[in-house]
Amino acid sequence: MRAAIRPETILVSIMTANNEVGTIEPIREIGAVCREAGVLFHTDAVQAIGHIPMDVQDMNIDLLTLTAHKFHGPKGVGAVYIRKGVRVPAMITGGGQENKKRAGTENVPGIVGLAKALEIQTENLEANMKKMTALRDKLIAGVEERIPAVHLNGDRTKRLPNNVNFGIRYIESESILLMLDLKGVAASSGSACTSGSLDPSHVLLAMGISHEEANGSLRMTLSEFTTEEEIDYVLEILPPIVQRLRDMSPIYPKGGVQ
Ligand SMILES: *Cc1c(COP(=O)(O)O)cnc(C)c1O
Repeated sequence: MRAAIRPETILVSIMTANNEVGTIEPIREIGAVCREAGVLFHTDAVQAIGHIPMDVQDMNIDLLTLTAHKFHGPKGVGAVYIRKGVRVPAMITGGGQENKKRAGTENVPGIVGLAKALEIQTENLEANMKKMTALRDKLIAGVEERIPAVHLNGDRTKRLPNNVNFGIRYIESESILLMLDLKGVAASSGSACTSGSLDPSHVLLAMGISHEEANGSLRMTLSEFTTEEEIDYVLEILPPIVQRLRDMSPIYPKGGVQ
């Protein structure tokens, strides 16, 4: 990143944690490099806020964005943190609402809902993180133990407590998703913004993962309301689903894989 900063660079923007694979970036260090280079640093913390500890001072963050519905708040409301002294033009001009940045009458129920949800989420952050990390790791270990030819996408430890993403070889994620859905399990193959598109995830491709493996990606996300019984249920139904689809797959080697 240091090498990518040019004399005309004014802003660096990096996600705190990736929405598809859950990888958490070294935000404090990135912020320090930006500060040293005199470049503003923005982070999209949508996946991180309410899920891992964040501190804009300690992490050298100038601008931070978040959205309420990723931590059980209402849909349609988000927030931006702007460090004092950072000048940002208005997004909507007109009235003087929201510090003259976004004209128009404030969405009071949305704003109050966001703040209340964040308050509840931060109060329980440590306990939730501990609980979800344990369930996440149980799910990861269980899948690796029961299903051959799978690959954990993203970092094993520098990872959101609620994210699991596997590459499952020889089959397509859409079929797994349909079969999981029939068994009452909601999962996804990548990002909600690209659901409905048949292209493999640009995130996985950029990570150097092959088209074939990216086509078989399965993302499962947890919340603090996820129970151990639910994890056990997924571990029970997923292996036969994968085996059934592999048995039908023209690219699956006869005699199975290790
Ligand atoms: C969901 C998400 C967004 C979009 O936020 P919306 O409020 O749903 O539009 C942006 N960035 C990341 C990393 C996300 O996960």
